[in-house]
Amino acid sequence: MEASDRNTEWRKQLRQALNAKERTEIERVKMPELPPKERIKSQRLEVNTGLTPEMAQREAKRCMDCATPTCMEGCPVGINIPGFIKQIEIGEFKGAADILKQTSALPAVCGRVCPQEKQCESKCFYLQKLKKAPVAIGYLERFASDYAWESERTSKPKIENSLGGIAVVGSGPSGLSFAGDMAKKGYDVTVFEALHEIGGVLKYGIPEFRLPNRIVDKEIESLRKLGVKFETNFIVGMTKSIEELKAEGFRAFYIASGAGLPRFMNIPGENLNGVLSSNEYLTRVNLMGADGADSDTPVFCGKNVVVVGGGNTAMDSVRTARRLGAERAMIVYRRSEAEMPARLEEVKHAKEEGCEFITLANPVEYIADEQGRVKQVKLQKMELGEPDASGRRSPVPVAGAEYLIDADVVIVAVGVSPNPIIPHSVAGLEVSKKGTIVVDEKTMQSNLPELYAGGDIVRGGATVILAMGDGRRAAEYMHRQLQQQT
Ligand SMILES: Cc1cc2nc3c(=O)[nH]c(=O)nc-3n(C[C@H](O)[C@H](O)[C@H](O)COP(=O)(O)OP(=O)(O)OC[C@H]3O[C@@H](n4cnc5c(N)ncnc54)[C@H](O)[C@@H]3O)c2cc1C
Repeated sequence: MEASDRNTEWRKQLRQALNAKERTEIERVKMPELPPKERIKSQRLEVNTGLTPEMAQREAKRCMDCATPTCMEGCPVGINIPGFIKQIEIGEFKGAADILKQTSALPAVCGRVCPQEKQCESKCFYLQKLKKAPVAIGYLERFASDYAWESERTSKPKIENSLGGIAVVGSGPSGLSFAGDMAKKGYDVTVFEALHEIGGVLKYGIPEFRLPNRIVDKEIESLRKLGVKFETNFIVGMTKSIEELKAEGFRAFYIASGAGLPRFMNIPGENLNGVLSSNEYLTRVNLMGADGADSDTPVFCGKNVVVVGGGNTAMDSVRTARRLGAERAMIVYRRSEAEMPARLEEVKHAKEEGCEFITLANPVEYIADEQGRVKQVKLQKMELGEPDASGRRSPVPVAGAEYLIDADVVIVAVGVSPNPIIPHSVAGLEVSKKGTIVVDEKTMQSNLPELYAGGDIVRGGATVILAMGDGRRAAEYMHRQLQQQT
């Protein structure tokens, strides 16, 4: 019987060893963190330091091993959540990591950056039925993946890549998830990446204090061991076209080129020196070391830094500004904190680190000094109106209520658009008005039969786990299609 099967004798015994009441009396574990004063000294000190084995096993005991695990319904890649948690409870940490790897190419990443409060943990029995804090599924996922690496006991899969060549465009979480699944099925997978680093937003967007590069690199290493090949500095659609790659023998394509095009608000002063997109800011710091004293192209750190937006990108930017020495690092958000799309933990950490939150305010103009550099932001006061299409209460300007705040750097983090190269360069490909690739939602296949797509290039800016879920589905259906052809 499978270790992950609920009906194994040891799982039954485990359920009997500690009754339900005893399990529910255990308090949810708290993630150990570096103190705010220490962690803001560096962009590269991870804030959450991870659970100890004792903490993880105690937290695992809280899991009721439900007959119908609703937590799994909240996971887009379908991780066997009770299965891996029960392995932790009995101290089989490698077994837990192996279960995670069955359905997720990047468990150590997901354990760190998934919005668990909106996904698996939001469906947990504790929250739904007992109105108590859910089992810390994300923390346990991170624990098992990290432990398996540290003890160097990850299983080494043996795969024969004999089913033909598959090309993946983009090495973000969607491309990596797809590549892992296809390699496991026996395909010869090559991932083409425009940048010099592999990982997409995981490397160029999310800062190291949240997701260290060494974690992303370890996940990539596991994919290399499965036989996945990577070509960096290769822009599909420019370096070579899809047609040229097809002529070289690639049988099918998965497009996971993301949504890395920054959006602006088109307000006066947006072109001033000192106003930049969060993409530029974070990429320069995270990927090009522009925060370092020895950088050839350092970013201007700023004393009063305003970050416009309320999502994860805005939180990453404001916390980066704080680490780079801003005296005032301020979030300006047009709704209230309750509507912020950022992960709750990021908002909490930003506040602990001294970032300020100016809510119900929207920039309407940036004002320059004599040198053409931003010196102030004119803010429009807002109030909340009726819910809009997103279901959140909409921001409505308060007539005549404008005020100025000082700012020497403004970082705009108000959303992203799809990367345009593939949608523009592939003849006949169906593309939406927003520039996303149109696919069948079930199979992720585009109108061109040999071309599948997923992640942010299909959804616009979304989440890591949704991008990974798309990759898994595309792999399943592409495999079915290719099997029918052979
Ligand atoms: C700063 C920031 C913080 C975030 N924080 C979180 C978080 O905490 N939790 C969460 O769940 N989500 C978060 N997100 C969103 C999440 O990262 C994205 O939804 C996810 O990365 C999308 O994955 P993807 O694989 O579709 O695209 P990406 O990660 O964008 O990867 C696409 C890759 O394709 C490459 N590419 C593009 N065009 C080409 C081409 N023509 N040829 C070759 N390569 C190409 C790009 O260089 C890039 O590396 C965050 C996003 C940002 C920007």
